Amino acid sequence: MKQKNNETVSKLKIIPLGGLEQIGMNITAFEYEDSIIVVDCGLAFPADDMLGIDLVIPDITYLKENIDKVKGFVFTHGHEDHIGAIPYVFKEINVPLYATRLTMGLIENKLKEHNLTNKIRRKVVKFGQTINLGCFRIEFIKTNHSIVDAAALAIYSPAGIVIHTGDFKVDYTPVFGDAIDLGRFAELGRKGVLALMCDSTNAERPGYTQSEKTVGKTFDHLFTEHASGRIIIATFASNVDRVQQIINSAYKFGRKVVVEGRSMVNVIDTASKLECLAIPENTLIETEQLKNYPDEKTVIITTGSQGESMAALSRMANGTHKKVSINAGDTVIFSSSPIPGNEKAVTKVINELSRKGATVIFQDAHVSGHACAEEIKLIYTLTQPKFSIPVHGEYKHLKAQERLVRDLGYDKENIIILSSGDVLELNDDGAAITGKVTVGGIYVDGLGVGDVGNVVLRDRQHLSEDGIMIVVMALEQGTGTLMSGPEIYSRGFVYVKESDELMDEAHRVVSDAVDRCIDRNVTDWGKIKSSIKDALSDYVWKKTKRRPMILPVIMEVS
Ligand SMILES: [Zn+2]
Ligand SMILES: [Zn+2]
Repeated sequence: MKQKNNETVSKLKIIPLGGLEQIGMNITAFEYEDSIIVVDCGLAFPADDMLGIDLVIPDITYLKENIDKVKGFVFTHGHEDHIGAIPYVFKEINVPLYATRLTMGLIENKLKEHNLTNKIRRKVVKFGQTINLGCFRIEFIKTNHSIVDAAALAIYSPAGIVIHTGDFKVDYTPVFGDAIDLGRFAELGRKGVLALMCDSTNAERPGYTQSEKTVGKTFDHLFTEHASGRIIIATFASNVDRVQQIINSAYKFGRKVVVEGRSMVNVIDTASKLECLAIPENTLIETEQLKNYPDEKTVIITTGSQGESMAALSRMANGTHKKVSINAGDTVIFSSSPIPGNEKAVTKVINELSRKGATVIFQDAHVSGHACAEEIKLIYTLTQPKFSIPVHGEYKHLKAQERLVRDLGYDKENIIILSSGDVLELNDDGAAITGKVTVGGIYVDGLGVGDVGNVVLRDRQHLSEDGIMIVVMALEQGTGTLMSGPEIYSRGFVYVKESDELMDEAHRVVSDAVDRCIDRNVTDWGKIKSSIKDALSDYVWKKTKRRPMILPVIMEVS
């Protein structure tokens, strides 16, 4: 309980370390005196201009600097934007993890892949159960989302109760398990809630998000309508509820199910082991067995609903998938809506599928996993928080939630729009942003974490736009006499075979530049290189209005 000695009543600090500039990379620290707990540890997928970057993970400098205070991480659910950065972050810090059953199952897959299984303590938490971490107590509350075992968190601190909804929607007829525990939200509201941190993803959309079950009905219709051929359905690997409904429809219509795509196979495997997915016996078959069944008796569930070029669906569409090729008569259902930015890639896949004779279905085979306006208002009405802190979204989504909360009669001062890195201090008497900590995205490229920064990205951008020219030559040791070259190689600049004249002329320009240096007895290689660069780049610009990267290489021979 809060001490009212008027002097130093500590405040609760809420510090988002990511997740407020984009959808992705969710991670938030809660700090009270010498205790810190962290909610979620997600990754973001790279933007279009981050060439060659695989993923983006949060900068956790603040946690490393305060590691003695960090009591543990708690997780809302098993989506990549909430658990995806765990293997990278937990190579640097080691504190216990707490999550519900399926969330922990998916976390354990990641730890296993990175050989961290035995190093990190963890505990599976049930709904309604609370855990104590330092001066915090955390209760896991049942919600609905597009994956089983999604939780909201009630975080009890000496400064008051904060509710974090996680990603949620209100689904009275969920595919698996119970409906959201609205009663608990109401009970907490009666106790008094200091702040509500609520999912903003769909705050711009009026009304209610439909039940996931409506998609099941759509599948039944589609299976009836397209009874004569094979059905291929693309969705997110992590949308476990959707996968369940596809399996239900397949079973109902006597079709065997094949699962394609590594992430899809992993998630389905984990979910069915934990009994979060019910697969009737003899329903799943291996891809190799497809040929033993007529087309109209099979369904393929696959990754690639976002047009990702390496995913199974794209490979089927462009004919590079080893085991499945698209035939006329196939029906391909996209059971997802494209994430902004992916529309072009999705269109490309649709065109390729259509060209091969497949019927492509895009409508109505998806509902969102996030609460719309009326559901957000419901949660506010039940919990009656003193402060509103919209989370999970781009700025415009956070502002949309602010408008909803204003409609509910909240004052502007009680709605706090944070940026990642802000330190919000609050208690019953008030809330204010009092500082800023280091935050940012760290790029992961292959095995390298953080070794690709802005300089490297700029080079990649440059190479991708104008290509490269490499000038190679050999100088004699001591005398500096030209022994061989210069030779010019280029990639991504012009098609050399059709640009004889240009390349010949470029060669002459480089030779002249080298000769001039030799005549003037220039022996400093740096100077020779920059003369070559200047001369060649001037010439190329004049002739082509392009600026390829120019890389002179000088070898010394004796
Ligand atoms: Zn989610
Ligand atoms: Zn999310």
